[in-house]
Amino acid sequence: MNDTIANASIQELSSWEFAQKLDAQDPLAKFRDEFAIPPRRSVSGSHPVVESDADLDKPCTYLCGNSLGLMPKRSRELVMQEFDVWADRGVVGHWDHPGHGGWAVIDEPLKEPLGRLVGAKPSEVTPMNTLTANLHAMMASFYKPTKDRFKILIEAKAFPSDHYAVSSQLRLHGFDPEEALIALAPRQGESTLRTEDIIQTIRNDHQIALVMLSGIQYYTGQLFEIEKITRVGHEEGCVVGWDLAHAVGNAPLQLHDWDVDFACWCSYKYLNSGAGGIAGLFVHEKYANDDRPRLAGWWGNDKATRFEMKPEFKPSPGASGYQMSNPSILATASLLGSLQVFDAAGFSALRSKSVSLTGYLERLLDTVLEAHQKAGHFSILTPRDPEHRGCQLSLDFPQRMMDIFAQLEARGVICDERKPTVIRIAPVPLYNTYTDALRAVLSLKDILDSFFPISQ
Ligand SMILES: *Cc1c(COP(=O)(O)O)cnc(C)c1O
Repeated sequence: MNDTIANASIQELSSWEFAQKLDAQDPLAKFRDEFAIPPRRSVSGSHPVVESDADLDKPCTYLCGNSLGLMPKRSRELVMQEFDVWADRGVVGHWDHPGHGGWAVIDEPLKEPLGRLVGAKPSEVTPMNTLTANLHAMMASFYKPTKDRFKILIEAKAFPSDHYAVSSQLRLHGFDPEEALIALAPRQGESTLRTEDIIQTIRNDHQIALVMLSGIQYYTGQLFEIEKITRVGHEEGCVVGWDLAHAVGNAPLQLHDWDVDFACWCSYKYLNSGAGGIAGLFVHEKYANDDRPRLAGWWGNDKATRFEMKPEFKPSPGASGYQMSNPSILATASLLGSLQVFDAAGFSALRSKSVSLTGYLERLLDTVLEAHQKAGHFSILTPRDPEHRGCQLSLDFPQRMMDIFAQLEARGVICDERKPTVIRIAPVPLYNTYTDALRAVLSLKDILDSFFPISQ
């Protein structure tokens, strides 16, 4: 954490002046302007808690980029340009386009910036489909069970879509998830998984064909040790794939160097591409030219012969060979707008700010809300070590979580709830401020003080 924050007194920490000073010193502060921040009027529900009506026109405190990133203004511009070209040129826009090489190659300009975010060569990544569809596509090609090696390892309480996808793949191959799905849970009394326990499971169970964890666990915010777990998986003969829904654009990734087999992610969370945006895929270069069976479609065919419309399928080298359909132009243009903002800011600068901003939020929760934490009104589930998390902190409220959530919303503090007891708060370095973090914690203090009065 930033020394200024680590050394500050409680009085300093909880003062607006201190938060404003941190914002003034933030070299990335200007990027907030690249985004549309919803006003409190639109997001505070039917009973907003405000001091005056003028407050309703102020921007909300949006701490929900883990669920849906805010709209980059550039994305709107790029999408509007595509409408204009569509209106002006119709089908000709596929080949002759004033803004880029045409819709037939709209995915190409995304490969370099996506590769930079996940630590991959452009040929190892592609935008395509949606996340769950990509998980299925990857399992169709990389989950090759045998009589002796057929299990899939995921984390307990994985995102439900991943759980369903994995279970259905097991069933498609004739296995019973009761027997073939290992859903690894934290130790009794702990909320996150220990790397040593994940490794032990992989080493001791000789029947695992596929390890497919999430890079960052959506509920707890834990960032797994991707490199270490991938290495052990390979030593034990497993294929190792990752769901990076909450990691991409949030945590540092080096998928190529870490020798990850495949990875999938969505783009509407930290990548700000808009709800239902186009997802992403990484397939390691070592598989670039193997023509393993896949869920093939014409967009995965070799580009040189794609439009010859022949019945023989010859895959494009690399990740592109797994594409199925021609990508949504609007979704792809929207994602490109966001990737341009990422490139302008630079990921390592974003990660430094993220560590500092989430560290500040954590420090505020530990000081301003110390009495409520001690009284058991809430606890922080997310690992305390910044190396083991992204920007999100998951707060566990054993009582009245939904009431607390509604009260935050009424104050224009937008987070998200995950039942049964968690509220996730994600300060995003591209558009959030230190003042946002302070406002969230002071609002929470207000709410907790009224729900659970603490006698002095
Ligand atoms: C957000 C998320 C999903 C959502 O899947 P879609 O196919 O994009 O609807 C799946 N898995 C994880 C881990 C997620 O965080």
